[in-house]
Amino acid sequence: MNTVTSNTNKKRSINYIVVHCTATPSNTTIESIKRYWKDVRKWGDVAGYHYIIKADGEVIQLLPENKNSYGVYAHNSECISLAYIGGIDKDGKPKDTRSKSQEHAMFDLIVKLTEKYKNAKVVGHRDFEGVKKACPSFDVKKWLANYTPDIETIR
Ligand SMILES: [Zn+2]
Repeated sequence: MNTVTSNTNKKRSINYIVVHCTATPSNTTIESIKRYWKDVRKWGDVAGYHYIIKADGEVIQLLPENKNSYGVYAHNSECISLAYIGGIDKDGKPKDTRSKSQEHAMFDLIVKLTEKYKNAKVVGHRDFEGVKKACPSFDVKKWLANYTPDIETIR
């Protein structure tokens, strides 16, 4: 993970590390999310995010970092996108449903990405102008300022 291997693509200049939620139940499988992108959104094999974080905290890379994802309308060439599976309550309303492991994995991934893309700002999808979604269902800036890793989760 974290290696940009291809030399056939022009370098992307990353200005944003964008946090998303999948806006699905937390137990939704990556396979069904990919099927939705392919069959409903007609995105072919291009992912909506570079990384996806499962409820148990496992991080899965869906797209190389040198490729554009379909994460943020009109900003994809300058973004690395990551999402946690979840983000809605049982009525489908926006809710921060992150598990402790998911929260920890997300923090860890953001730290790695900010070390690599030093000029990039960490933002939530909804922080972009004109976005009417609640994604990722929490305030990224506030969370990052207040987050303290749970030692029990790390062990
Ligand atoms: Zn989003």
